[in-house]
Amino acid sequence: MKNLSILGSTGSIGCNALKIVEMFPQRFAVKALAARSNTDLLAKQIEQFTPEVAVVYDRDTMQQLKKKLAAGTGVEILCGDEGYRAAATADGVDIVITAVVGAAGLMPTLAAIDAGKTIALANKETLVMAGEIVTRKAVQKGVQILPVDSEHSAIFQCLQGHRKADLAKILLTASGGPFLNLPLSQFCKISTAQALNHPNWNMGPKITIDSATLMNKGLEVLEAKSLFDVSEDMIEVIVHPQSVIHSMVAYQDGSVIAQLGIPDMKAAIAYALSFPERLPLNQPLPDFSGAQDLTFQKPDLEKFPCLALAFEACKVGKTLPAVLNAANEVAVTSFLREEISFSDIARIVEWTMDAHTVADNPELSDIIDADRQSRIKAADLIRDINRKPITNNQ
Ligand code: MG
Repeated sequence: MKNLSILGSTGSIGCNALKIVEMFPQRFAVKALAARSNTDLLAKQIEQFTPEVAVVYDRDTMQQLKKKLAAGTGVEILCGDEGYRAAATADGVDIVITAVVGAAGLMPTLAAIDAGKTIALANKETLVMAGEIVTRKAVQKGVQILPVDSEHSAIFQCLQGHRKADLAKILLTASGGPFLNLPLSQFCKISTAQALNHPNWNMGPKITIDSATLMNKGLEVLEAKSLFDVSEDMIEVIVHPQSVIHSMVAYQDGSVIAQLGIPDMKAAIAYALSFPERLPLNQPLPDFSGAQDLTFQKPDLEKFPCLALAFEACKVGKTLPAVLNAANEVAVTSFLREEISFSDIARIVEWTMDAHTVADNPELSDIIDADRQSRIKAADLIRDINRKPITNNQ
């Protein structure tokens, strides 16, 4: 029996992880659940999975949750940073699934590593922002970080049974998102609703927008660099619109090993939870009847400048990946509120990166500081963008 703590239990990864717990009640138990503010769903999850600890964002949300729970539910309810830390480090927890959205995932993941917990990592920002610090700490503590992101799970699977010294290249596949075939001239007209409509994967709003800009792939390049300890020139992004191949690894003899499956997150989550075993998920196989072609192309960096910016951040490293991530989070939130255009997302990220002075040998505090400063800078830049049309109309 493995005891789980799920940080981000009401999101897409969290819900899929709970489906796996439901399928294999003899193997997994839920010790802690942490969400942000979806108290309706969290209350249902608490009643079904009976964790010892449940955590929400703040005191008001905590009161809301308490009202929704049946009398006699023996769960301890906590809130805020302290609460997330408690859920990440609770006694008896074997695996912490870190599926919180954005930079908020960093501190609880570090706390879980400190407490010696195995990490099933779905929060890519943890490695994007502080990859070196996080992986160093994991090595020190003898903690395993198992990827939940489908591409990284695929790469991890393709690396099993092979010598790291023989690795030549990581081939990271990208669906290309909903605007793969849209001409660049049409990009200025992209609406929030269009960007939220991903062709293959059903995910939360932040990652869906990141998939449409290809920033998600950029963050995944940064994640892969830390997770697999390779340089960025060993990582190549290949657009593969069918999302059947979840990623590939090339070895120095020219052999390429790929991992395939239907686009469903359950397989990647289950592999992280049961590694090195594989669970009988009863998933259908990809369609090999000949009805579906598998195609590949190079990413268009002119249409998707976010990917080029991420490669730049990857090359420079230090505090720049945290800046890229922070500016992107602010810009995506603003785009979801329909305050800026789709193309503005990359502009905001680029300008924020340009304005940043990279810190050498950054400590965790430098990274947190770069994150905070960049959010302020990005918000200022967004205000400037929004002022311009008003002036033009006069
Ligand atoms: Mg992914």
